[in-house]
Amino acid sequence: MVEKLALVGIGKIARDQHIPAISDNPEFSLEAVVSRNATVDGVQHFKTVDELLEARPDITTVSLAIPPQPRFDYAAKALNAGRNVMLEKPPGQSLAECFTLETLAREQGVSIFATWHSRYADCVPDLREWLSSRTIKKLEIVWKEDVRKWHPGQEWIWEPGGMGVFDPGINALSILTEILPFPVHLKSAKLEFPENRATPIAASLDFANPVNAQMRAEFDWRQEGPQSWDIVIDTDDGAATLSHGGALLTIGGQQIKQGQDNEYANLYARMASLLKSGKSDMDMSPLIHVCDAFSLGERLVTDPFHY
Ligand code: NAP
Repeated sequence: MVEKLALVGIGKIARDQHIPAISDNPEFSLEAVVSRNATVDGVQHFKTVDELLEARPDITTVSLAIPPQPRFDYAAKALNAGRNVMLEKPPGQSLAECFTLETLAREQGVSIFATWHSRYADCVPDLREWLSSRTIKKLEIVWKEDVRKWHPGQEWIWEPGGMGVFDPGINALSILTEILPFPVHLKSAKLEFPENRATPIAASLDFANPVNAQMRAEFDWRQEGPQSWDIVIDTDDGAATLSHGGALLTIGGQQIKQGQDNEYANLYARMASLLKSGKSDMDMSPLIHVCDAFSLGERLVTDPFHY
């Protein structure tokens, strides 16, 4: 059966990834979009999610590609109307929001999926498998990008709930929590807030772990020139580097795999399988680390940021 789907929020990620991934997946048909401003050629348009839910009871799944701050209200409306829901990352602006949505989905007997697109990068399963039989000595995440290039004019990332540099940083944490054979927790953090902004522009995190390895993450949005989305891991059996956000895996200095850009195709395939089994997937571990960083992190004030 083809699932009828509506996509909510027609912004950067909807156009770059969601629309192509949905149209390439024969298990979904894009029946409607909800946008305050935009339309998509050949697809029915609604201005609000209430209008969509009222007019199209046949649409079974709602995919939310809006920023985290408004997401809870949209998701709760869709779930209360008995629809399955797919959440862009981060799944909410707080843990309590996400747990409430998970409970609502259970009560309504529908599926909810907190997507972590970076987990679905091609080389992530290979690294997970390789690490499962090795002992980690040291792990370093370096996620440094130019916010002006990747988030031009996006004010929501600087507003409460927008998470600042954790908006990309949570992608690294979603990979970390997928590849490690054991759970870790945050020990300490430093967060740098521009003096004119409510969210951090840089963060460094230090993780406690059961093998007492040094495990650190550096996130920085002020990186000009080459950009870094790398995880470097030393083990008792050589070193592995996962780079380009999970698309390239090097082990012992040798390139093992160069993946394709399949993240969103894989996300919609996973959603289709959740719908078939009637299950949900709401792993909150990446968001827990971000919330812990806001709770434990030492706060430093740095230069103002302007686009
Ligand atoms: P965006 O382009 O700034 O915004 C997406 C759309 O959300 C907007 O075009 C707008 O759509 C809607 N929107 C914005 N503020 C809203 C509000 N207050 N209430 C209701 N709707 C609102 O953001 P984006 O880059 O696509 O990111 C959206 C989500 O995807 C974020 O959670 C982000 O972390 C995640 N994501 C982004 C990327 C990326 O490369 N940009 C990659 C992966 C994941 P309408 O005008 O259509 O209403």
